[in-house]
Amino acid sequence: MTQDPRLLKMADGGGTAVADQTDVGSYFVANYPPFSVWTPEAVAADALPALQRPPAAGVPLGLYLHIPFCRKRCHFCYFRVYTDKNSSDVAQYLDVLAREWEQYAAQPAIAGRPLNFVYFGGGTPSFLSTQQLEGLVTRLTATTSWASAEEVTFECEPGTLSESKLGVIRRLGVTRLSLGVENFDDRVLELNGRAHRSGEIDRAYRFARSLDFPQINIDLIAGMLGETEDNWKVCVEKTIALDPDSVTIYQMELPFNTTISKDLIKGTQQFADPVAAWSTKRRWVAEAFEALERAGYHIGSAYTAVKNPSKTRFIYRDRLWQGADMAALGVASFGHVNGVHMQNLDTWESYTAAVDAGRLPLSRAYRPTDEERLIRELVLQLKLGTIRPAYFQEKYGVDILTRFRDAFASLQADGYAAEIGADRVTLTRDGLLRVDVLLPRFFLPAHAGIRYT
Ligand code: SF4
Repeated sequence: MTQDPRLLKMADGGGTAVADQTDVGSYFVANYPPFSVWTPEAVAADALPALQRPPAAGVPLGLYLHIPFCRKRCHFCYFRVYTDKNSSDVAQYLDVLAREWEQYAAQPAIAGRPLNFVYFGGGTPSFLSTQQLEGLVTRLTATTSWASAEEVTFECEPGTLSESKLGVIRRLGVTRLSLGVENFDDRVLELNGRAHRSGEIDRAYRFARSLDFPQINIDLIAGMLGETEDNWKVCVEKTIALDPDSVTIYQMELPFNTTISKDLIKGTQQFADPVAAWSTKRRWVAEAFEALERAGYHIGSAYTAVKNPSKTRFIYRDRLWQGADMAALGVASFGHVNGVHMQNLDTWESYTAAVDAGRLPLSRAYRPTDEERLIRELVLQLKLGTIRPAYFQEKYGVDILTRFRDAFASLQADGYAAEIGADRVTLTRDGLLRVDVLLPRFFLPAHAGIRYT
């Protein structure tokens, strides 16, 4: 490799690395400033004092729970997950999670605030048994009720769902069930190390539908190992046939710590099938979006199609992208409270030991300046395809059309902006499909071209 794989890739033709092939490196912009500038020192200097301050008026609060267990590790996975924990390990982790929330709920920044949204992410939240789930939710809601939350999302792996478990998930108040389908072909699922198979998708979906979840989302990934033109078309057709409320499609990327990335870096050639080129993945998503639009869906962001936008929202995403607070529990989780980004310790031992010792298990943090908070919201909201300059004028007192004149002009010159006006800035479909590689154009010079994670 000639390049640090942890650099943010710029496959748009205007950045530092222009390869169309899917190389090892981060591509997806999940936050700003890049995680590599967050520091352990800022935990004491910024994160803990922020938690000691009362909350800013009018800022919603969310709760994120990282459930880091999976039946198998997918070859493209870059999350902190465990596949070797037994039921007493899981019970210990859930106990730590509940105690971590008790500690958070005692902080002045969090105490007494209602939860606006809750997100069970992973890992695989549906890995938990019904008893484990009920026990966890009983303890969490004894500390803070989420009865008034606008949305409770729960990520599922289809092979872990039974009708009775789904019934419990529904009864616990989940409003948005997200099914990690990724692909409908058993060969592709096997090649990528997924634990589930196609038969489990149909079964899980039918059970979920019968239980009347307000929103069911299906996740797909364009460009998994072994993906073909014909199979991708079939995946899109099968998705539409299931008629979910929303569909999320990610383009496969290879952050440096996936099994596939390690194989590529070492040259061990464990995987015969390459990941498709960026141009192919973009075309596959474009074709999927067009098919979904023909079926009545609306494109709500670079990754999502929604059947009925007036009914189906994604509160977690929208709140986060507008600077909401979010207490993030669990090993390696990322949160944001009172103007400070924070991440938890990222090993089982260090995370559980900190909570056992009565400390918040934070490992690094960063307090963005007002300008950095503005840029964060701008780049994240650009993923929706349309932003309103008035929103930024009102919130930050900044005219973004002037402040980011050069970046917007470059989007227009490259054909990625359809409209740049006082009312709104809208990306072209081509721009939307590559939005993550366009976003560094808005970064401060100090953050352009540095390691992302
Ligand atoms: S199911 Fe998700 S979290 Fe678990 S190993 Fe696969 S990609 Fe990672």
